[in-house]
Amino acid sequence: MIDLSSIKFDEKGLVPVVVQDFHSKQVLMVAYMNSESLNLTLQTGYMYYFSRSRNQIWKKGETSGNYQILKCLKVDCDKDALLAQVEQIGNACHTGNKSCFFTTLYGEESKDDVLKRLMEIIEDRKNNPKEGSYTVYLLKSGLDKILKKIGEESSEVIIAAKNEEKDQVVWEVSDLVYHLSVLLSYLQITWDDIFEHLKSRMKE
Ligand code: AMP
Ligand code: ZN
Ligand code: ZN
Ligand code: ZN
Repeated sequence: MIDLSSIKFDEKGLVPVVVQDFHSKQVLMVAYMNSESLNLTLQTGYMYYFSRSRNQIWKKGETSGNYQILKCLKVDCDKDALLAQVEQIGNACHTGNKSCFFTTLYGEESKDDVLKRLMEIIEDRKNNPKEGSYTVYLLKSGLDKILKKIGEESSEVIIAAKNEEKDQVVWEVSDLVYHLSVLLSYLQITWDDIFEHLKSRMKE
């Protein structure tokens, strides 16, 4: 077993845990553990934390079903913070977002996160339907409507490409990717599932 005595709990007996998605490496949340929740986590393989507001041990997912299965636990250089890589069932955040870190205070989004952000917005529309939202309309209309749109947008990509109109191709591919994202969301598939699969097909 690992040497837990080296971990430096603070004066309240707590240590912060950065929680990361094992596959995508997305930072999901930050929470605290006391030694009891750490032991429970290591014994069961499910993430347990200590709630500072409720002053009690808390098994992540107990009420929401959004459990976290521990895949890898690391400690930082000076032993006062933990990094847990987990298999996240559903969303990590109790607001319905995948990650708790969906609010940007400063700076810009890195471009390779755009699909992820788009997916989060679609998921958010699913959980908190907004008046006049096209995404809500699509999701409510059902699979046939989404598939019809994908057919249309695919044709528009082909037409734009045939005409070699680059700006138009960018526009129509964006339309197509958006509608594909709605389809994936509808079927509860993530872009990470697609990326993982694409990666598995790579020969090197
Ligand atoms: P859960 O553990 O997902 O069943 O959620 C139970 C309760 O724990 C929620 O109602 C929140 O009060 C709290 N909680 C769950 N996930 C988080 C989170 N990522 N950050 C902060 N509080 C959370
Ligand atoms: Zn540290
Ligand atoms: Zn949250
Ligand atoms: Zn279009």
